[in-house]
Amino acid sequence: MHPVEFIEKKRDGGTHGAAELREWIEAYVAGEVPDYQMAAWLMAVYFQGMTPEETAGLTLAMAYSGEVLDLSSLGKTVDKHSSGGVGDKTTLVVAPILAAAGLVVAKMSGRGLAHTGGTIDKLESIPGWRAELSDEEFMRQAREVGLVIAGQSKNLAPADGKMYALRDVTGTVPSIPLIASSIMSKKLAAGARIITLDVKVGRGAFMKNVGDARRLAELMVGIGRHAGRDVRAVLSQMDQPLGRAVGNAIEVREAIATLNGEGPRDLEELSLALAEEALEAAGIEKERAAAVWRSGAALDRLRAFIEAQGGDGRVVEEPERLELAPDVFELRASEDGVVAALDAYRVGMATLRLGGGRERKNAPIDHGVGVYLLKKIGEPVRAGEVLARVHHRGGRGLEEALELLGSAYELAETATPPPLLLDVVA
Ligand code: URA
Repeated sequence: MHPVEFIEKKRDGGTHGAAELREWIEAYVAGEVPDYQMAAWLMAVYFQGMTPEETAGLTLAMAYSGEVLDLSSLGKTVDKHSSGGVGDKTTLVVAPILAAAGLVVAKMSGRGLAHTGGTIDKLESIPGWRAELSDEEFMRQAREVGLVIAGQSKNLAPADGKMYALRDVTGTVPSIPLIASSIMSKKLAAGARIITLDVKVGRGAFMKNVGDARRLAELMVGIGRHAGRDVRAVLSQMDQPLGRAVGNAIEVREAIATLNGEGPRDLEELSLALAEEALEAAGIEKERAAAVWRSGAALDRLRAFIEAQGGDGRVVEEPERLELAPDVFELRASEDGVVAALDAYRVGMATLRLGGGRERKNAPIDHGVGVYLLKKIGEPVRAGEVLARVHHRGGRGLEEALELLGSAYELAETATPPPLLLDVVA
């Protein structure tokens, strides 16, 4: 391996083979290739791109850079991943549905960063719930409850952790092959046979248009096939937040309400679509999703999952046990109109300013703060009516949050909500 020649090959538009990509990644993880050479190569990839075969080769090399979980003893295992959004609590709805329908959901999840929230942060708003499980605990719970969600292990795809940190500071995050290999290396290492992806499109997402989102989805589905997994992707709109709740405890409350049949329509629609794709991939009739949802079996499974990981399962019947910050500010409309835009990015940033998200890795967060959107795109509003309720703690970050929220809303004379489900790639 000659690092300079390898970098030059990509710089000049060449194509790497699987064996040299493996060698490159192994040398990087071993510390033989320094960060500055990896950074130069990442920039070459950013400009020259990679073929689907190269991307698959890179993904496998990254997936096998550390531990690869063997879940084969668990039967039909499924993982669900979202490319990152605002108000996206679908995992909390979809995972219990799939477990109640007979699949085993054994997954690792991340924490939130910047304007997007993470499933682990949301779950940690449940008193007692813990994300750190030993390998034995993880496997036992998967077998006994059919649903386990743990924090991302450092041993899974360590190449991605190192490369992502470097991409973050070298302007090389927004590259479709690099995003695809980053997401899929972690999913392949996590071991599930069926992988359902929710690729977000719009103002609050990595992918700003449907064309790029479809290219990313096709690439990830192809990588999965290459690795013998069944991957399906749903493309969903993220111009405005999903559902009405944005924060941590407030989102868990909304997920529970949704499993009780009292959730917002967009969250129901997307959750059902994702659950049905996973069931079809597993050869189970998709009507099972709605059946276990209606019967309450999915909600029971959520309770069992929370309790198995040390959490207070009573939150399922008494969601007020999920504590919200006590101070509330009501943002009101200054004129009559119809909501024409509700910028997901700004709503996410508003929540971050209140303390509900993090700008630096590992920074602590306030689980109780958040925003409840009483008005979303297409809904009429009168001057003086409440647009959004802001749960804050003693005014921390409130001024900035209100500025962001105020500018997130645009009113017009008429507006129709954008379609939520944009495409399915399988
Ligand atoms: N999420 C990831 O895990 N990796 C990326 O590169 C982008 C989003």
